[in-house]
Amino acid sequence: MSFDELGLRPELLRAVAKAGYTEPTPIQWQAIPLVLQGRDVMAGAQTGTGKTAGFVLPILQRLTAGGPPTGRGRRMIRALIVTPTRELAAQVEESIREYGRFLPVRSAVVYGGVGMRGQLDALARGVDILVATPGRLLDHSERRSVDLSAVETVVLDEADRMLDMGFLPDIRRVLKLLPTQRQSLLFSATYTDEVRGLAAGLLRDPATVEAPRETVESDLVEQCVYPATKEGKKALLVHLLGNEVGAGALVFVRTRHGADKLAKHLDHSGINAVPIHGSLSQNQRIRSLGDFKAGRARVLVATDIAARGLDIDQLPHVINFDLPNVPEDYVHRIGRTGRAGTQGAAISLVCGEEIPFLQQIEKLVNKRLPRVRVDGMEEHTPSGSLENWGAPREQAPRPASAGNKPVRRRGPERAVLQERFTSLRATVAEPVADAAVRPARRNRPEGVRPPDLDQPRAAMRGAR
Ligand code: AMP
Repeated sequence: MSFDELGLRPELLRAVAKAGYTEPTPIQWQAIPLVLQGRDVMAGAQTGTGKTAGFVLPILQRLTAGGPPTGRGRRMIRALIVTPTRELAAQVEESIREYGRFLPVRSAVVYGGVGMRGQLDALARGVDILVATPGRLLDHSERRSVDLSAVETVVLDEADRMLDMGFLPDIRRVLKLLPTQRQSLLFSATYTDEVRGLAAGLLRDPATVEAPRETVESDLVEQCVYPATKEGKKALLVHLLGNEVGAGALVFVRTRHGADKLAKHLDHSGINAVPIHGSLSQNQRIRSLGDFKAGRARVLVATDIAARGLDIDQLPHVINFDLPNVPEDYVHRIGRTGRAGTQGAAISLVCGEEIPFLQQIEKLVNKRLPRVRVDGMEEHTPSGSLENWGAPREQAPRPASAGNKPVRRRGPERAVLQERFTSLRATVAEPVADAAVRPARRNRPEGVRPPDLDQPRAAMRGAR
């Protein structure tokens, strides 16, 4: 399938070619024709699948179907894209500019944590497509600086994450501001009951499309587990970054405080690291990301929500310093590497108390991840055999050839993990092959948010 066959106008095909895309991704060839037809769509897709172009390209086409906007008269917002985080909002708007570069379409982005002035000016000049986080959008609505009465298409991007962040009441309020006659698109990485509930109230006779999960939890991402003591994780991480992980790494932690502390610790250990999380101002976040992208910082220490939507090219390593307590977040995290056909590595440092999380993750990805021990780091790793370390109690020990055999790493050679993983593949038999990742119901009771969830609702409000 080529982009030409999707019925996109020449200006969009030129923009896509200029972006270097040769063929549409699965979510694109499924979603684009449906959106072009004006259908409501429920799409199972996450960052890394090309989902943004999956809705931006057909929206641009529909907005310019009756001839490009002339610029005469006041422009009205005709497409609204709502995202959970500022980073994702900024990135989606960047994509609109990129894909719409040959069309006279105007876009703007509004999110909290920065001053209103620039946003007010942009809105006053007139906008065709608005990208927004829910809180700031409602602020603008209250100030009457935004008029959503002409919206023809609304997109809820990363709907599951918005619900996780407690945005449901805000989303409901936003939807009430829109005309009832409209096209609605819902993109979500997981289909929880909450997402289905939202979809039921939002979409009319929706078409359902699904990005293949392999694009995220794919063969391109080599995964392994380094068992560690709780206290030994930092030393193990410094060792890995100093000796084995050659290039930049995105390191995930569970809390904002943990992100700050770990970034400082790495810095003191001679490894340039910057944090990114919801308590930082937008400018601080932009600076951290810029330092990392430009190579001034080797390590970006991130919380899940702050990292959501970051598009960092050529990210060879994702390191889970803490395991997420929601297994789907593991899949999101490792989806940050191994993108667009490049090989990536996902490393998890796991201590005894995280074993239940590890077991949930292995159930979700349907394979046992190889355990790795580093010579010379014994005091920071659990004692005894790793043969069945972290295996569920009821699971009978499998023969070593079935993927249980721990791998012993020799000394601190300076080889990048990618190469090591290649040999790892030869040492460890492939675990259960190719099983699709089941979208599992989150194991958190309804309405209960984890205590450490980044950017809780109150903080988001405060940040507006
Ligand atoms: P997204 O899932 O929308 O965040 O996109 C992830 C990355 O894939 C971005 O860097 C896009 O520029 C890139 N991308 C989107 N569509 C394609 C395509 N058809 N071919 C190659 N790369 C793409």
